[in-house]
Amino acid sequence: MSNPSILILPGDGIGPEVMAEVRKVIDWYGAKRDLAFDVSEDLVGGAAYDKHGVPLADETMAKAQEVDAVLLGAVGGPKYDVLDFSVKPERGLLRLRKEMDLFANLRPAQCFDALADFSSLKKEVVAGLDIMIVRELTSGVYFGEPRGIFEEGNERVGINTQRYTESEIERAARAAFELAMKRNKKLCSMEKANVMESGILWREVVTRVGEEYPEVELSHMYADNGAMQLVRAPKQFDVIVTDNLFGDILSDCAAMLTGSLGMLPSASLGAPMANGRPKAMYEPVHGSAPDIAGQGKANPIACILSFAMALRYSFDQGDEATRLETAIEKVLADGVRTADLMGPEGGTPVSTSEMGDKIIEA
Ligand code: ATP
Ligand code: MG
Repeated sequence: MSNPSILILPGDGIGPEVMAEVRKVIDWYGAKRDLAFDVSEDLVGGAAYDKHGVPLADETMAKAQEVDAVLLGAVGGPKYDVLDFSVKPERGLLRLRKEMDLFANLRPAQCFDALADFSSLKKEVVAGLDIMIVRELTSGVYFGEPRGIFEEGNERVGINTQRYTESEIERAARAAFELAMKRNKKLCSMEKANVMESGILWREVVTRVGEEYPEVELSHMYADNGAMQLVRAPKQFDVIVTDNLFGDILSDCAAMLTGSLGMLPSASLGAPMANGRPKAMYEPVHGSAPDIAGQGKANPIACILSFAMALRYSFDQGDEATRLETAIEKVLADGVRTADLMGPEGGTPVSTSEMGDKIIEA
């Protein structure tokens, strides 16, 4: 059997810097764990625009469709702000998500003990926090028709339409239940069924899919209450599933429970391919961070944790993923910090590559 395949798209800004550390980790697995990957690398975003005049070349798109997993760094930067909308770096990312039909966006919010002081909440509220938000990514109010700004009488009206089909809800729900089965068998679905038709259907379909997963304890919550509960007592949750708009807001809210943008990974999953693995793209939540690009200051942990998610969800290597996360936890517990993780007490930060080396050592 051939090795599992990975397409690396470092992108712009700090993307290539943090991806270089992921590359070290991948090479370590090949050398030390007999877990070799076929890795190829290509351009996306501004880097692709500079070479091809488009933020994602057709050949790159075709490669992304073939591999077992795509790892993406970040796209964009001030240099590209002047570009026409159709060739902006972000369009490269949107094309990948759209053509791979990545409908389930997984965003974990995990609080490493060593960083519990970083949260804007009290330490006891977040210490040990480990939750996962599943956001539906391809439908809902961002895509529903009609949409636009229209003339109505003597003024204009801005319209977006919240629209969900049963099958769209069903596949997102199924992804969330599968995840709940791999975790702690606890799922909370969030919508606003009290005021929205799409919410009524959402609740109905999630409940129906839930009948196939009798082991999973399913609960429902209105999304506004969900936002409050996430800040009040986030540890009551394990997996949360919600629609595109609520997921956008709730996952940013959950992210900040843990403190730093440099620590947050994500996965976007689609339908299973012929080999049974889901189409998948993994990327840090942060952007290209032009303010610190090229200075060796970026925290590579978000990107390395994204690779840990790839190990778990694309390569059936959950134990190795846990070991990698444990290594990161140990390095943090030892007090190793990139600049973004320095508290007010100060100290000497390590560089991007030193952080990568420490993680491999651990
Ligand atoms: P995008 O629009 O691409 O999401 P953004 O404007 O939301 O980008 P980021 O590029 O994520 O923002 O950066 C926001 C802030 O966080 C910046 O000050 C950046 O330096 C910092 N930051 C982001 N990622 C990291 C990282 N990995 N390590 C250290 N600092 C980071
Ligand atoms: Mg942003």
